[in-house]
Amino acid sequence: MTFMDEVTAHTPGAHPRLEMCIQCGTCGGSCPSGADMDHTPRQLFAMIKAEMRDEVLRSNTPWYCVSCYFCMVRCPQEVHITDLMYTLKRMAIKEGMYRESTAADIPDFSETFIDYVQSHGRSFELGLATRYHLRHHPLGMVKKAGLGLELIRRGRMDLTPKRIKDIDQLHAILAKARELGGEP
Ligand code: SF4
Ligand code: SF4
Repeated sequence: MTFMDEVTAHTPGAHPRLEMCIQCGTCGGSCPSGADMDHTPRQLFAMIKAEMRDEVLRSNTPWYCVSCYFCMVRCPQEVHITDLMYTLKRMAIKEGMYRESTAADIPDFSETFIDYVQSHGRSFELGLATRYHLRHHPLGMVKKAGLGLELIRRGRMDLTPKRIKDIDQLHAILAKARELGGEP
């Protein structure tokens, strides 16, 4: 199985679209996160074709994708670009490659976010910022403290996490997703 087959097999609708990429660059030109990415989506797809598995799974590009779908709307070949970014993220996690990318701390941010959503049914900004920044950017935390205090003072940020009603229903949905093979 080629790397291309592997990637498309895990992305509904991506076969045969990904192989039809004409390298026009419209996706990268449309991407709001392009400046932070190691490779444009176009380059990443050329690397998949060239079997550059490790380089692709180490790229920070999927981690900077904000799922805006702008590239997908504009792609002349209807490549499932955003969905492919999710597949590459899952593969990079499974193989531990994201730890070697220049976005190595971004999955931690995502994990912290998911922890709160799982336990409370919603994000908790103060906890998210505190846990993530203390671990990765303690100095940045000090710089942002003023902004945090101002948001709390204006009632724009909660001091404690608040749980949604009927959280059991969310837990049942998550349990079913895991049973069906979804990733935590
Ligand atoms: S816009 Fe579509 S066809 Fe053009 S480079 Fe990107 S993925 Fe390929
Ligand atoms: S969906 Fe992702 S890759 Fe596509 S334009 Fe938006 S941020 Fe960029």
